[in-house]
Amino acid sequence: MLLKGTGVSAGVAQGTAYVLSCGYRSAVPQRSIRASEVDGERGRLEAAVAKAEAELAALQEDVRERIGPLQAEIFSVQRLILADASLRDRLLRTVEQKRVNVEAAVSEVLEDSARSLEVAKDGVVQGRAADVHDVRRRLLSALAEGPGGARPEIPSGAIVVADELLPSLTARLQLEHVGAFVTVRGNRFSHSSILARSLGTPAVAAVPSALAQIKTGDRVIVDGVAGVVFVNPESSIEREYERLAADLKSSKEKLRQLIDLPSTTLDGTPLPLLANVNKFSDTEAALLYKAEGVGLYRTEFAFSIRSTFPTEDEQFEFLERAAERMHPRKLVFRLLDLGGDKILPYFPLPPSRNPSLSERGIRLLLRYLDVLKAQLRAFLRVSARYPISILLPVVVGVEDVRQVREVLGQVQSELTAEGKRFNPAVPLGAMIEVPSAALMIRNLSKEVDFFSLGTNDLVQYVLAADREDESTTPNYQPLHPAVLRLIQSVVEEANNCGRDLSICGEMAGDPLNTALLLGLGLRELSVAPGQMLEVKNAIRRTRLEDARKLATAALELGSAAEVEALLSK
Ligand code: PEP
Ligand code: MG
Repeated sequence: MLLKGTGVSAGVAQGTAYVLSCGYRSAVPQRSIRASEVDGERGRLEAAVAKAEAELAALQEDVRERIGPLQAEIFSVQRLILADASLRDRLLRTVEQKRVNVEAAVSEVLEDSARSLEVAKDGVVQGRAADVHDVRRRLLSALAEGPGGARPEIPSGAIVVADELLPSLTARLQLEHVGAFVTVRGNRFSHSSILARSLGTPAVAAVPSALAQIKTGDRVIVDGVAGVVFVNPESSIEREYERLAADLKSSKEKLRQLIDLPSTTLDGTPLPLLANVNKFSDTEAALLYKAEGVGLYRTEFAFSIRSTFPTEDEQFEFLERAAERMHPRKLVFRLLDLGGDKILPYFPLPPSRNPSLSERGIRLLLRYLDVLKAQLRAFLRVSARYPISILLPVVVGVEDVRQVREVLGQVQSELTAEGKRFNPAVPLGAMIEVPSAALMIRNLSKEVDFFSLGTNDLVQYVLAADREDESTTPNYQPLHPAVLRLIQSVVEEANNCGRDLSICGEMAGDPLNTALLLGLGLRELSVAPGQMLEVKNAIRRTRLEDARKLATAALELGSAAEVEALLSK
């Protein structure tokens, strides 16, 4: 299940849900009291005010230390409200005259004050209403708990799910135990969001059905970058996020110093390092490691987490957010690559004896024009404001590109007729991941603006070894000389035809292969963000002349084992 909200503190976390029920949101326990109870209620009010004041003071101190004195001032207003003698008088009068418990008085009097502020014309005065609400909730919370409210025992790494994380509650949590926050209410400017950000704890707010859909013990993924929450997700989604969490954490502390160093070889040749991105939140890791752009944005993930095809507008929304985030860097969106190992639960493909050799990629998409058109429209709309390119998956030959160009032309006419803006010269590229395409670069160069070498598939098709099948793993050899020769020929032909070429297959992310790939002539690498620093490290240790010699030697060898032996030397 996928719940949408607003990412208020970036980062991702996976863990077990811990649902907190917060007293201040549940119905206020209102009751009539006897005259003999008035004194007791007065005492309860004093205790609650004192507790609230102590909490606020502690919170203010905490914020002052962790964030700064300016932010800590948010709480001064609330402390002033609490200290206001006339407010206390009104509260006590209400208890005495109306003979109601303190909760009822707090609720009535403070709601009343908040309402009068809310109607004010001045935005700043209006803003004070939120402080009054907060004080009201804090007092009710203090009254609900009685003296020394219990500190919830949060299991380590738990995903805290709550209606709203007001500072009074947040302050009581063992924050170091919290893996992430999910709340029904709140926004970026809520106090708890500020705190979550300062602690580096991922948080998603404004998830209306969080309490209805999440139970304590559920497996939850919180994506504070995209603003989504997955409840009991499939293992493929968990794996995706495990990878991103590892990317963001990057155990390779010693490589961090490389972040700000240029990606250039020892002899000073710049080697742009781009990121492979599977979902919006991967842009976080891409930016963290200062990727020069996104060389491959796979769009399948965004389709796989929904129960139907996302609409054009939905696609536009998440693609434009990514483009905005990466701006002004280069960004290559790939059209949906279905078939083979990539299947959508709501789009069953006919059973096939051999999925990798059945219709897939762009050819499959061309049979589902509605899906293709919606995606192209979304891409084009993003191109109006951002420098994006469009990449076609699993291109086999020139017809594939020509057909897409035809559909692209139709879509452009439609958009023009609707008065929607787009870049009419948006660059179109082809994935080179099928041997036929690798051998037809010269012809394809007349049809596309750039190429991206997809070695994950290329290796399986060159060596007849299924990339997903464990029994063929020993035969799936990215370093096989046949693969290297094909890569070399693609590089040469693309250069001759003046077409940009990058490599985005996994083999580009292995630093052991970097010198070899540079020696084969590749000059732009797109790798998973978590591999970026290691590859940059390898680039910075490579002299192009040595790399060329290495590649020449490798191309002469007869097997992958021999190439591996050469590289490890
Ligand atoms: C590839 O095939 O090398 C590639 C980058 O695409 P994917 O892994 O998505 O098939
Ligand atoms: Mg591929």
